[in-house]
Amino acid sequence: MTYNVKDYGREWRKKNIEKCREYCKKYYQKYKKQNQERSKLYGLKLRADVINKLGGKCIICGYDKDIRGLCVDHINGGGTQEEIKIGTQGIYHKVLENTEGYQCLCATCNQIKKSENHEF
Ligand SMILES: [Zn+2]
Repeated sequence: MTYNVKDYGREWRKKNIEKCREYCKKYYQKYKKQNQERSKLYGLKLRADVINKLGGKCIICGYDKDIRGLCVDHINGGGTQEEIKIGTQGIYHKVLENTEGYQCLCATCNQIKKSENHEF
């Protein structure tokens, strides 16, 4: 019989499940803040990449002063449904692959477009 580290580890975890759970809990608590910060930075960078790929400014009025005032707009609507289906980051990854069907709008122009199209 050959010695397999993977199997040994699996067996050990089965026998010591409470120890493992305790360790995971401690690990999660210890790095919780760090992980949340990293996750937040990742989200902000991803969003910036998407906005930049869409031109970095509102295609209607040209607003480009603050990225927080810009949003990814679904040209033919359906943004809420897609967000429910694949999530915000899912949409961002999709836009990075192919920008077709999306445009960059400022918050004001986006609201006006939604109102005119009766999207809410
Ligand atoms: Zn605008």
